[in-house]
Amino acid sequence: MTHIYNFSAGPAVLPKEVLAQAAAEMLDWHGSGMSVMEMSHRGPEFISIYKAAERDLRELLAVPDNYKILFMQGGGLSQNALIPLNLAGHKPQPATIDFIHTGSWSAKSIKEAAKYANVNVAASSATSVPPQSEWKLTPGAAYLHMCTNETIDGVEYDFDSGVPASQEGVLLVADMSSHILSRRIDVSKYGLIFAGAQKNIGPAGVTIVIVREDLLGKALPACPSAFDFKLVADNESMYNTPPTYGIYIAGLVFQWLKQQGGVAEMERRAIAKAKLLYDALDASDFYETRVAKSNRSRMNVPFYLKDESKNEAFLAGAKARGLLQLKGHKSVGGMRASIYNAMPIEGVQALVDYLNEFASSAG
Ligand code: PMP
Repeated sequence: MTHIYNFSAGPAVLPKEVLAQAAAEMLDWHGSGMSVMEMSHRGPEFISIYKAAERDLRELLAVPDNYKILFMQGGGLSQNALIPLNLAGHKPQPATIDFIHTGSWSAKSIKEAAKYANVNVAASSATSVPPQSEWKLTPGAAYLHMCTNETIDGVEYDFDSGVPASQEGVLLVADMSSHILSRRIDVSKYGLIFAGAQKNIGPAGVTIVIVREDLLGKALPACPSAFDFKLVADNESMYNTPPTYGIYIAGLVFQWLKQQGGVAEMERRAIAKAKLLYDALDASDFYETRVAKSNRSRMNVPFYLKDESKNEAFLAGAKARGLLQLKGHKSVGGMRASIYNAMPIEGVQALVDYLNEFASSAG
């Protein structure tokens, strides 16, 4: 049978070991006589699953004690409303929120936040992260929102160059949905980090929010109670029923990550996988990439066939080889290979082999 490699941007590939364990535990979790799906979220079994997931994520990302980790529902997009509703209240109303626009997801965040606050686009590009010296920040802004990996456009912040270290005194909010746990980060530099689960964490339906404690408790009156970060934090994500099965799978992924060597090891692998793919694309006249080299995403690699009339043949040939979901997002076209933590380097190598083969047969 052809080996399948799934390059979907999300929901995305999960570690096979995790899926196998979930299958083995599906009908009877640890002798409880129940599936995790059937357990009360307030019972001792699920509480132990929840606490282990929280503890492991805290360990993996070295989350300081003065930060809360929330497991919420609503996905990444809901946070575009919930973060203004929870954080803008620290300033006189209407507050101003600064944004760095680097692609489709930060654009969506800007549009949604404008319902709740004044928005200022401090810098804008869809093929690079504008240099910090050009950011036009608003004095007294509630916070600065950035999407540190643009899943559609393939633009990733290069933290090594000092982003966001030099933004001292500015409250940073980061959408890390599509690269969380793929590189080491210094959580203490951020006021809030959020991520939908369906790329590097687990199934869709869980959203992780990591928020500094002193930012809780100032939600605007319009904020729904179930999405008031303080209520969620005070109730350990059980103010309402949390997405229990998703949290369980996320917990298994966290255990898998620890067994593999943690985030530092994921970063090492991500660098190797991305290099393999970008080197192949750069070496060919048949394909092109459009993102500034210093901001190329290690997770989402958009690329284009120079002759777009061959797109369908490319995708059909890829599918025949078990290389799935390579079609680019409809808003930008072309191709996109998402190579998250659970994508083995063998999958990237299989893609590179196919890229070369297709270019020489069709070029
Ligand atoms: N932010 C980023 C960076 C994303 O990639 C996505 C989903 N692809 C979202 C936000 C939106 O997430 P959701 O569909 O879970 O609302």
